Amino acid sequence: MLNIGCHLSTTLGYMGMGKEALRIGATTFQFFTRNPRGAKAKALDLDDVAIFNGFARDHGLGPIMGHASYTLNPASRDAHKQDYAREIMADDIGRLEHTPGALYNFHPGTHPEPLSEEVVGLVADILNTVLRSDQRTLVLLETMSGQGSEVGGRFETLAAIIDSVAHKDRLGVCLDTAHVFAAGYDIVNGLDGVLRQFDKTVGLKRLRAVHCNDAKFPLASGKDRHAAIGEGHIGLDGFRGIVNHPALKDLPFYLETPNDNDGYSREIALLRGLKKD
Ligand code: FE
Ligand code: FE
Ligand code: ZN
Repeated sequence: MLNIGCHLSTTLGYMGMGKEALRIGATTFQFFTRNPRGAKAKALDLDDVAIFNGFARDHGLGPIMGHASYTLNPASRDAHKQDYAREIMADDIGRLEHTPGALYNFHPGTHPEPLSEEVVGLVADILNTVLRSDQRTLVLLETMSGQGSEVGGRFETLAAIIDSVAHKDRLGVCLDTAHVFAAGYDIVNGLDGVLRQFDKTVGLKRLRAVHCNDAKFPLASGKDRHAAIGEGHIGLDGFRGIVNHPALKDLPFYLETPNDNDGYSREIALLRGLKKD
């Protein structure tokens, strides 16, 4: 069965998210580790986390994915922004260590020359200080649409960053379907070729999760706008290919479509219906 969930609000805590996931038919979920547009993180309620860990084990929920806040810019040349990203990422990973096997997804950031060597050095430098060989959390670089100064629109950049990091075993990639499509990778008519390209640059063994979103604009639009599943340019045939592809079908999928939780519930059922096993 497709392991799929969606982005959930942390308002109700870990147990609240776990119960909501089950209610909508999800087997995993994503959440913001802190306010997506700010730095503030709620203090971790360790009792809530402990009860959730048991609940997740009993119900086969996971791996859960913490999404880093959008205010981080690991690719920034500004030393203060670098320090800030380092501090927040280390703190986020420390919090996620309380939920064993969690994924931590982040955007590589923005830079005036997003394809430059300098970018690779800046992001890798941060990862080299925040990743620890004994950590259980797997950190994922997200594939981005590459609009404007956004880093991560090319697989080569992600590959170069990973190559420059010491604890590569704690590092992977989350493929966002809407982002790669906007970046020009044709996952509708050429999914196999795109994944071969990914394999040649990054390596398929690094691919650890999928952000499952339809795309509001056509291929190579360069615009990061998500659509509900089946209502965008990837479409149901596109997603049928995606959920059944041998390189993707066993990965955890996370929906970030414009939806409320009942809408997510319908999308989860829809995508499971497209899967052949
Ligand atoms: Fe993201
Ligand atoms: Fe995403
Ligand atoms: Zn997006």
